[in-house]
Amino acid sequence: MRYSKRFRVRPGHKVKLADIDPGFHSTHEDEAAAKGEIVTNQEKLRALQYRMYSENKRSLLICLQAMDAGGKDGTIQHVMGAMNPQGCLVQAFKTPSAEEAAHDFLWRVHKAVGGKGTVTVFNRSHYEDVLVVRVHKLVRKGVWSGRYDHINDFEKELTDSGTHILKFFLHISKEEQLFRFKERLNDPTKQWKISESDYLEREFWDDYMKAYEDVLRECSTDAAPWFVIPSNHKWFRNLAVSQILVEYLEALKMEFPKPTVDLKQIGRRYHRAEKDAHRHR
Ligand code: AMP
Ligand code: MG
Repeated sequence: MRYSKRFRVRPGHKVKLADIDPGFHSTHEDEAAAKGEIVTNQEKLRALQYRMYSENKRSLLICLQAMDAGGKDGTIQHVMGAMNPQGCLVQAFKTPSAEEAAHDFLWRVHKAVGGKGTVTVFNRSHYEDVLVVRVHKLVRKGVWSGRYDHINDFEKELTDSGTHILKFFLHISKEEQLFRFKERLNDPTKQWKISESDYLEREFWDDYMKAYEDVLRECSTDAAPWFVIPSNHKWFRNLAVSQILVEYLEALKMEFPKPTVDLKQIGRRYHRAEKDAHRHR
């Protein structure tokens, strides 16, 4: 089955995250067995992004959300690693600055969306405003609960304007998170990533799962779908995300623009230049 269908949240569908196995890895035994497909996807992604860039007609926005250590950074490295940096943008959303906090919650988000021909990845996103903000009661319920509609309207405006939106929740288990925290603690190249908030947020795990379930039910639309990606296995996560991007981008049937010059005439000029170059050799 196509991954873009298998992992997509149907609009309005009630998701129970506890029923979705984060350790799922389909029929692939292990990373080695999936390697060929992963590499093929990366090659396809590179070619598809090149088409989008050359076409210069539309853009792609990828939103990544996950619990801490859920694999957002790794996914970005994997997906963007396949693309030409020209035409790519990664945007991380942290605790809002004073200026950002003085505006409506979508203000900083809208201007971070790339223009035609580009691929933008959001490392966290406007969804934090119905996740961390809700869990920690940073605003009243009446405020955050109105935001699902605001988000859907905002995304509708974007998709109507030629921005394709794909949203991924990287689903890991609480045990896998602890395992990754241990890795961070023991690996000097990963220790810089440790933050106090990792452990604080972990205590709110169940509240986050509830908040994510509401996001998935309220904000997965045909034009801007959510996908729940089983992510305990990093290699399967990479396979699934890249596969969905490939399936989705291939369906767009993007074409290279027709040359704006007269190729016959330019061909003649080329041959003259070639002759000239010979003569002066
Ligand atoms: P990290 O992605 O690990 O660098 O952490 C970024 C932090 O910013 C996370 O703890 C997020 O929950 C927090 N954050 C992102 N967006 C918002 C927001 N709109 N309001 C409050 N906190 C946020
Ligand atoms: Mg963090």
